[in-house]
Amino acid sequence: MPSRLLSRIQKIPQPGSDAIISSQTSSDFPDCAVARFVGAVTDANLEAVAQSFDAILSESIHYLVVDFSTIEDIGPAGIGLMLVLRQRLRDRHGDIILCAMRPRLERMQRVLGLEGYFTTAPDSQSALQSLKNVFDGIYPLSVRCPACDTLIDIEHPGRGRCQTCEAVITAFPDGAITLG
Ligand SMILES: [Zn+2]
Repeated sequence: MPSRLLSRIQKIPQPGSDAIISSQTSSDFPDCAVARFVGAVTDANLEAVAQSFDAILSESIHYLVVDFSTIEDIGPAGIGLMLVLRQRLRDRHGDIILCAMRPRLERMQRVLGLEGYFTTAPDSQSALQSLKNVFDGIYPLSVRCPACDTLIDIEHPGRGRCQTCEAVITAFPDGAITLG
């Protein structure tokens, strides 16, 4: 069954070196966005690129797949931005997955001492598939309610109530839970 895709395209105006970032979320995986670059990320347009990612990373997004297959170039500052996004997503119990990295990019990661730092995938399809495999293993989640200690079942990540004491519980995609 084809999933409904919601697409957004953001053009980053920058004379001489346009970069375009498009993002896509799928209705069967609403907390994951796939972002694609066209063009180059340079020191000159870094701020605009960062703002585009701010727009993509709405509250509900926990996972961001960044597809580098059509990017022309990205400098160390762009990799620095990926690090910032990685931290933001991990603070939300999510992650950033970089895919279709070119040899030059992989070399740059090594030079910057970032080898193994990012979650990577050969392409965006396999990134989504491996995320789905993880969730299939985690949910439905069977945990003890942090408020009343009874065993409860949580079907999906998100906010809900304990069936016993009605405490509000937030479940994260990685299986972590918190009160409130
Ligand atoms: Zn409870």
